[in-house]
Amino acid sequence: MEFDKLTASRRGFLGLAGAGGAALALGGAPAEAAKVRTNARILILGAGAGGAAIANRLSDRLEGAQITVLDGKQEHWYQPGFTLIAAGLRPASYSKSSITGWLPRDITFINEYAAELDPEANRVVTTGGQRIDYDYLIVSTGVVLDWDAIEGFDLSMVGPETGIGAQYASPEHAAKTWAAIDRFTSEGGVGLFGRPETEMKCAGAPVKITFLAEDIANTKGNRDKCEFIYTTPGGALFGVPVIHHRVRQIMDERDITYNYRWKLLSIDAQAKTATFDTPEFIETVEWDFINVIAPQRAPQVIRDSGLSWADRWTDEGWIEVDMQTLRHARYPNVFGIGDINGVPKGKTAASVKWHLPVVEDHLVSEIAGREGTRLFDGYTSCPLITRVGRAMLVEFDYQDNLVPSFPGLIAPLEELWISWLMKEVALKATYNAMLRGRA
Ligand SMILES: Cc1cc2nc3c(=O)[nH]c(=O)nc-3n(C[C@H](O)[C@H](O)[C@H](O)COP(=O)(O)OP(=O)(O)OC[C@H]3O[C@@H](n4cnc5c(N)ncnc54)[C@H](O)[C@@H]3O)c2cc1C
Repeated sequence: MEFDKLTASRRGFLGLAGAGGAALALGGAPAEAAKVRTNARILILGAGAGGAAIANRLSDRLEGAQITVLDGKQEHWYQPGFTLIAAGLRPASYSKSSITGWLPRDITFINEYAAELDPEANRVVTTGGQRIDYDYLIVSTGVVLDWDAIEGFDLSMVGPETGIGAQYASPEHAAKTWAAIDRFTSEGGVGLFGRPETEMKCAGAPVKITFLAEDIANTKGNRDKCEFIYTTPGGALFGVPVIHHRVRQIMDERDITYNYRWKLLSIDAQAKTATFDTPEFIETVEWDFINVIAPQRAPQVIRDSGLSWADRWTDEGWIEVDMQTLRHARYPNVFGIGDINGVPKGKTAASVKWHLPVVEDHLVSEIAGREGTRLFDGYTSCPLITRVGRAMLVEFDYQDNLVPSFPGLIAPLEELWISWLMKEVALKATYNAMLRGRA
């Protein structure tokens, strides 16, 4: 396979954004390729970033296919916006739109979740009891946030009165997180930030909100009243060593304490304490603000289906796809797109953008009687915000190589205004173009 050639020639998610609208329009590969006739039944689970985008791409590439999309939600959430909402830079409405507005007209949308999935029988049963038989299945359900895993915590607690944030839960919870951060950075005290022990979507987001809150306290002239503590259950602040070192350097410079191998077990909202499992002992810490991020897992219906890895991520249930073709290892008519994939990197919307042409290629090629050739190289990107107005545009692959979209122009590990603009302005336009199948 021409892996190196393909990956070397591709440009990053944000690279397209930076090149502006003309480049976005040029990104419409599906419309340029010839249509393939088929009567295949294609079922897509989830209408989030991956599901909506692949529905549009397949609708463009195939003629006569019966494409069905299942999702029990009515709202589409632009989740990269949650961090901006939680920092008071956007309202909750910034991340909300209607799912149906993103889907092509010639598909069937069923506003229900998959409740049962039998890949032996090629069949799904919805929460409303409808039975759907498929020839090809695309799993793009994203993750489930396991809030119950944190003892004493409930999403109803989030807000300024309690000092509890939950930036990941929803646009409304992100807005309440901002209200709590606003109060903390005005009144001062101890702010606890951190990440869960499982694989997670956008592993940079817990770090970004820490940096933003610290910057906001500074701007308000209240930095000396606030203590910032970041905890991680692992041994690093970021999974890619060179980025870990840079994040640690910034935390040192800005007097943000970090604790390795600290896993959040429980919180007591009345006493305002959090209890952690640490290498030495069980540690209880008092806080004035805490940002809670739940452990993340595959939805139960996926975990019960037999699609998950049997010997990896057993407590999380990510599906067993080939890390380059994204085709299921045991069920070749099943593909994965997005956060649900059991691959070593890539739980970002930016990765979804590079999952899409791969799955489209292998699926459409098979229908056309050819073999697909495109491969996913692990591309993951996250504009790592360090202050309001500054970010580092980190992009990397499976081998932990930095793969900048603008080599020589935008240094990935420098805090730049242009990288901030990528996150604050360009990312949403590119994401929307991706949903339409055009980027
Ligand atoms: C706080 C935060 C910040 C982020 N920041 C960035 C960033 O800066 N850059 C970036 O690239 N990415 C970022 N991300 C990650 C990005 O949002 C996700 O990686 C991306 O949305 C994954 O797409 P997906 O299609 O896999 O899942 P999603 O977009 O989450 O969509 C999954 C869909 O599946 C549906 N579903 C679930 N279960 C079922 C079922 N049983 N049946 C049918 N449908 C089901 C859900 O209702 C949902 O609509 C961030 C995420 C968060 C939470």
